[in-house]
Order: sequence, then C-alpha cells, then structure tokens
Amino acid sequence: MKQYLIPEKGQFYKANMHTHTVCSDGQMTPEQIKELYKSNGYSVVAYTDHDIMIDHSDLNDENFLAITAYEVETNCPTDGFDAWDRTPTYHLNFYASRPDETCYPCANPGYTWGNARGLVQDYYKGDYQRRYSVEGQNDMIAQASKAGFLVSYNHPDWSLQHYPDYAGLEGLHTIEVYNTGCVQAGYSVDASEHAFQDMLALGKRVFPVAADDTHASREALGGWICVKAEALTYDEYMAAYRKGDFYASWGPAIEDLYLEDGVLHVFCSGVEEISLHTERRVARRVVATDGTLTWAEFDLKQYFNNVHRGGNDAKGFIRLVLIDENGNKALTRAYFADELSLSARGIDEA
Ligand SMILES: [Zn+2]
Ligand SMILES: [Zn+2]
Repeated sequence: MKQYLIPEKGQFYKANMHTHTVCSDGQMTPEQIKELYKSNGYSVVAYTDHDIMIDHSDLNDENFLAITAYEVETNCPTDGFDAWDRTPTYHLNFYASRPDETCYPCANPGYTWGNARGLVQDYYKGDYQRRYSVEGQNDMIAQASKAGFLVSYNHPDWSLQHYPDYAGLEGLHTIEVYNTGCVQAGYSVDASEHAFQDMLALGKRVFPVAADDTHASREALGGWICVKAEALTYDEYMAAYRKGDFYASWGPAIEDLYLEDGVLHVFCSGVEEISLHTERRVARRVVATDGTLTWAEFDLKQYFNNVHRGGNDAKGFIRLVLIDENGNKALTRAYFADELSLSARGIDEA
C-alpha cells in the first residue's frame, strides 16, 4: 500500500517563516517585505519582529498570507568587556494560531527593544522573568504552546549553543537548520543540521525549517519551506504547518514523497545526490552518475522489519537530504515508524 509522506492533495506554498521589519530592527517596511517575497514566488511570510506581535492581515490578498508571530530572546547573564560577543542566547519564534492573537505568553515589555519599543500595545502587559536555562526555556515553550503558539528554536550556531543547551528542550515544533542571515555572516550550516539530528535521536519530533531571518534585502530569499496545504488561508496553512506537511530547502525542490510496500520514493528537481538518514547505522546515498537525479528509491523493508520486530517503532525514523550541484540542500522532516502504516512499511500485518 502507498502512503504519501507529503500529502498528495493540495498545493505547495513557499514561505519565509523568519522576518524582521522596521517594527523592530529590520530595514524594510512590512509592505516592502511583502513585495520582495511575493515578486520572488513566495506565498507566505511570517512577521517575527523582536518582542512585538503585529497582525499584518491587511497585507493579505489572493496570493499572499501574513503570519502573526514574534521572536523572543533570553540572554545568558554575562559581565565585562566585549560581553555581547560571547553571550550565549536562546532565540525562539512564537507563531500564533490565529492572525488577531492578542495573548503574549511570557510577556514583559522591559525586554522590548529597537523600534518595537515605540509600538508596544496597551495589551502587552506582564512581568515575566526569562531565565537562561533549559528549565526556563521549557517553561516559556510550555506557556506559548498552551496558548496555541507553535515554537521554533532559532539559529543554534549563532546563539553559541551546543548539545547541553538544546538536548533538554521539550515541546519545540521546529528547529532552524538554515538561517540565511547567519550563513551570510559565515556561520556553519552543518552545526544546525547536526542539532536537528541530535534532537531526533533523542526522540524529539521536531521539524526542520530553513528561513531567512531577514533584516536587510541581502539576507532575503536564501532559505525557505514549502508547505503543502489545501488553501492559502491562515487556518489551512497553519494546520499543514502544525502537522509537518512541508520540507525545508535552500536549493532543491521536492515534488513527491511516498512509501509503498517498504520502498521510499522521492521525486525532485535535478540534484547531485540524495541521502537517507535514520536513527541507526543504515545511512544510504544515491549519487548522479550521468546528469542529475530527479528521483530515487530506497528499499527499507529490512530496516522497517528490524525496527518493528525490535519494538522500536516510536524511536525509528527516516529522513532524506537532497543536495544540488551548488551544494545547496533540501531536508525532509523525519517520519517516525509509528506514523507509517505497517503495509506501507512492507510489514506483513499477520
Ligand atoms: Zn534570532
Ligand atoms: Zn530573527
């Protein structure tokens, strides 16, 4: 039996889920951001200004959707000369489940900065004290999630964060595996992808996102997600995003992805290689021998049988990485074995 891992029905909408405007420390207005992205084939922009959440629904049209969101940061207390250069920090994006959301989880206007300071609304009240610790962040993630927000863990490499800083985080919806602003500045892409794999290996069901973190136009149009949804409405888009019906990319396009009788099939734009990653020592790689690859298949019957017979359905996962001729990648999310039907995995149910 065939199981679509990216839904068969619907349409792909290209989205940048991390953007700053003049409402905090960005250089472009919300309207200029819309024009820039829309004219480059994007359908969705999440406005994630620092500590200010603004409903930009007035920008919506038939082919453009604004997502209401904001970015919160928690800096590690550090004293002394050149402290900022060596201050580890947590940056989280909170995405609202409805455009006119007015609840600010973990609010404290004292944390607002940049132009947001002059824009803080009356309803933005609170005295929440952010704590730079795994426990402190888990409390913020839990409060945001309870209020219906989806939470992203942003740019771990730029944040000077390592395994002990993120391994204990609970309840994250996404992790940034690519951040155009950070890449432009010279930070490593690989470190973030490694953090993603670490989280999966710990059993955390977190989805990978590529995003721009746009402050100026040079940081735009570098990384994105393609979300497959039934329609370009706030509810449909956020429902698909919540479910993980998307892939992350800074190059290749994925057209189709399904599992049939234990064989994983992927169809894509031309790439040089496609590799499979799991929680086990069973990585596999297909490389273009002649021209470029536009599809690949991976026979995973043996792998799925081992996972299933070993009673590890909840821990076993598969994911793909596609790499184009420029070294740019697309990443699927991880699909855990217990999300996949036995027949699609090629396992005899009897
Ligand atoms: Zn940030
Ligand atoms: Zn940012």
